Amino acid sequence: MDLGIAGKWALVCAASKGLGRGCAQALVQEGVNVVINARGAEALEATAAQLRTLAAEWAAAGAGRAAPLVIAVAADITAEAGREAVLAAPGGPGRDFDILVNNAGGPPPGDFRDWNREAWVKALDANMLTPIALIQALVDGMAARGFGRIVNITSSSVKAPIDILGLSNGARSGLTGFVAGIARSPLAARGVTINNLLPGKFDTDRIASTIAAAASKTGKPEAEIRASQQKQIPAGRFGTPDEFGAICAFLCSRQAAYLTGQNILPDGGSYPGTF
Ligand code: NAP
Repeated sequence: MDLGIAGKWALVCAASKGLGRGCAQALVQEGVNVVINARGAEALEATAAQLRTLAAEWAAAGAGRAAPLVIAVAADITAEAGREAVLAAPGGPGRDFDILVNNAGGPPPGDFRDWNREAWVKALDANMLTPIALIQALVDGMAARGFGRIVNITSSSVKAPIDILGLSNGARSGLTGFVAGIARSPLAARGVTINNLLPGKFDTDRIASTIAAAASKTGKPEAEIRASQQKQIPAGRFGTPDEFGAICAFLCSRQAAYLTGQNILPDGGSYPGTF
């Protein structure tokens, strides 16, 4: 299926690895120009180089097609200066992005009794206020041009909270409530859709580090913990960043114009509810 978004500009935050990278890759494979971001320059540049190869392949597969551009900006997206750097990326579209994929690292697990105001402000900054700031910066331009797609990467913990991830449950639920309101505002009639993607367990560095932490805490081998977690998922495995990216690209498509204000849950069937 041609998603009808070739030539558009996407900002994909926190995209040198994992789910953000999967989204950037799927968009490039649809001919979308991307600005990608992460803090670590080395991994980001390596990802940008791989995406440029895919961009060239996409162009070569269709006569007369120009390869989509891939621009990398090493910056902390949770800091105002980082967001400004991304929005002013040389060669980028300035604030005229058509697609915004909001993402950042997740807050650490822990016992809620230990979290002070600083821990909460950090979680809220990363997983609620940063996506809101980027939506504020870009959404009116999208509406003025009559096309916009915003996808917020949140977590299955918004629907099925995980006790040790209280910082994530709280901050992401705040974002979800905010998005539920603005997605249904007059923006909807001006071609802008805003949806959330709630990952269950996907095979990324983050999952690998949580498995490693569980192994050192319990003394069990990592392979055993991985296998036992996968056994609890009806699909019997973790998802892949490619699968996640494909869903994100569809949410950004022309075909998905009537889908807004939704919380989409790719989790291999883990969530046990009917609705
Ligand atoms: P990951 O594999 O660890 O990748 C995280 C990416 O985000 C890296 O590129 C990292 O690069 C970048 N990043 C982190 N903090 C950043 C910041 N402040 N500014 C800019 N870039 C930043 O993680 P992931 O598994 O893809 O997870 C992505 C998000 O989904 C997280 O919020 C996570 O909590 C959530 N999530 C993931 C899963 C899962 O199963 N994987 C499940 C539920 C929710 P740098 O470190 O170089 O900045």
